[in-house]
Amino acid sequence: MRPERLNPLFVDAQSLDGVGPKLRKPLEKLGLTRVRDFVYHLPDRFIQRRTVTRLDEANIGEQVIIALTPVEHRASSGRGPFRVLTQDSEGDVCTLIYFGRASYTAKKLLPLGETRWIAGKLDQYGDMLQIVHPDHVEAESTALMGRLNEPVYPLAEGLTQPRMAALVMQAMGHAPELPEWIEPALIERMKWPTWRDALELAHRDTHPVARDRLAYDELLANSLALMLVKSANRARRGQPLNGDGHLRDRISLPFPLTGAQKRSIGEIEGDLAQESPMLRLLQGDVGAGKTVVALEAMLIAVEAGAQAAMLAPTEILARQHYETLRKLAASSGVAIALLTGRDKGKARESILMGLMDGSIQIVVGTHAIFQDAVGYRNLGLVVIDEQHRFGVGQRLMLAQKGKVTPHCLAMTATPIPRTLTLAQYGEMDVSRLDEMPPGRQPIDTRVIAQERLADVVAGIERHLATGQQAYWVCPMVRENENEDLAAAEARYAILKEHFGEAVVLVHGQMKPEAKDAAMERFVLGEAKLLVATTVIEVGVDVPNATLMVIEQAERFGLAQLHQLRGRVGRGSEKSICLLLRGEQLSETGRQRLALMRETQDGFRLAEEDLRLRGGGELLGTRQSGDTPFRVASLEQIQRLLPIAHDDARLLIERDGGLDLSRGQAARLLLYLFERDWGVQMLRGG
Ligand code: ADP
Ligand code: MG
Repeated sequence: MRPERLNPLFVDAQSLDGVGPKLRKPLEKLGLTRVRDFVYHLPDRFIQRRTVTRLDEANIGEQVIIALTPVEHRASSGRGPFRVLTQDSEGDVCTLIYFGRASYTAKKLLPLGETRWIAGKLDQYGDMLQIVHPDHVEAESTALMGRLNEPVYPLAEGLTQPRMAALVMQAMGHAPELPEWIEPALIERMKWPTWRDALELAHRDTHPVARDRLAYDELLANSLALMLVKSANRARRGQPLNGDGHLRDRISLPFPLTGAQKRSIGEIEGDLAQESPMLRLLQGDVGAGKTVVALEAMLIAVEAGAQAAMLAPTEILARQHYETLRKLAASSGVAIALLTGRDKGKARESILMGLMDGSIQIVVGTHAIFQDAVGYRNLGLVVIDEQHRFGVGQRLMLAQKGKVTPHCLAMTATPIPRTLTLAQYGEMDVSRLDEMPPGRQPIDTRVIAQERLADVVAGIERHLATGQQAYWVCPMVRENENEDLAAAEARYAILKEHFGEAVVLVHGQMKPEAKDAAMERFVLGEAKLLVATTVIEVGVDVPNATLMVIEQAERFGLAQLHQLRGRVGRGSEKSICLLLRGEQLSETGRQRLALMRETQDGFRLAEEDLRLRGGGELLGTRQSGDTPFRVASLEQIQRLLPIAHDDARLLIERDGGLDLSRGQAARLLLYLFERDWGVQMLRGG
């Protein structure tokens, strides 16, 4: 139950004056549905204005407040703007310009001969001074005094800055004082204001200290919630699994394990031997060899008399894993089964029976393996592949399956930087496969100007002539979806003229059957060139595809480029990756592509990606889709998360039930940031 004193913050946005059905949509688009969301709707930046008495005191491009007197209204014929010619106290002329519907109100706001106070950006057009769409027009100067420093909020269609500012003010009026949840010594050291003061300051002014405090709150809430999951997990009863090695001895891997694989297996073996259930993340780039590590872990479980289940995000991946594991473990005599949503009737029944009576020791599948109808005789270990596809909720649900809590090994191929690993998987222990199996051919990566398209196409032609296949990746960005899709289809049409039936197209908006059919043709080698948007990121494995072209590569994040490139370089032939860059390349874009050429180390690319994206943030407003945070910026995450993480750990060590006064305050924090699943980890919480 949410603590009562937070209720005013969780009241529906409709309770604010002026929020009716019409504003609901645009507000929802901004994620503003409750009073709480408004107080955390922080400005992107502030407009600094200067009051000037005469036009010639102001600089071109400057945000000014100035008294001007309208002398003429000039409507355009047709669709042109509405112009209001005005004069300052010296008779110098400035034209106010309005487009569209604003023209009607402009006439009323600016009657001829009456002086008005105008706030806006002074521009020059030819040798005329002008202000396009003044931000404010007031009869009294006092009305503008509060606008010398004005917040600029993220908006959606149908909202204006003054409107948004007024709503935020109103919401702030509902914000109660809250007790302090941050360590007092830290507050003092950082000179942080209280929660409520920090919000006030952050809405009023560029105030990095206040913004830091608010970001820290969010980071602390996250760390705390994850840590509560961790300690609750530690308190659960699991079964110690001590494998005696008899199954592992029976299989002979076709290669020696890498040092990183041995180390990870050792860490897992140590965890499995404990009574409290394992909660471990195995992080390793594509091709780092996670499957064998998973196999060894599962064999340990089976040696100890338990069953193991491996969960994959898609049916294709489940099938691939099943085939791989069956081959690797063939000589062990272990019974392995595949269970997906596709299995029906008798086949499914017999697998369910096998799981129930224990004759199936390892099962691989999609989420179908955790449906209610599926019972296990003794499930000891759950392996989850591609962890980022599953939310915390699902992770917790998995843990409830057996009589005792099974050990859990999560695997992810997304190399994320250490700080973000902490943010996303802070409740888990981490093993890193930071060493690639030997003998990998480096992928020859080149950056090529988009204009050289003809050469690229000729290159593909030569490549396909050798019997090898190729990918052609087009960008697909959410904000730009329709345009991007059109571009991908246009590219496909052009390539089709060259290569005919050998080309197939796959994109996210296709019907699943059509997509599967196209993929299948490529996997079978009937199609030679696959044109795709980023859907190929997960789960395609075609060793014969050894060339990848990525169009407008500068539009992709480093991590994403890396994932894409990981689709080639899987066979014995040398692979090539061509990054086509557009004409206008920013400095960061240039650096990114250079890094791609320079390294194939996913962890290094992830760290650099974070550094490049987090750099140059002013107010820290640059959000990133791949973090669980809305208030904290990438830069703040890097700087403050490690502190929050330590602080959360200390707090739980001292007051694991969050019962003492700071602990009670921390409960409020968890609700405030909707990490209440953290509170639910507390017994009776
Ligand atoms: P991922 O981490 O992407 O799941 P896989 O487990 O699929 O990687 O392994 C990629 C390839 O590398 C497989 O063909 C696997 O057999 C091979 N491999 C794994 N470990 C080693 C190793 N120590 N030495 C050589 N090859 C290995
Ligand atoms: Mg894998």
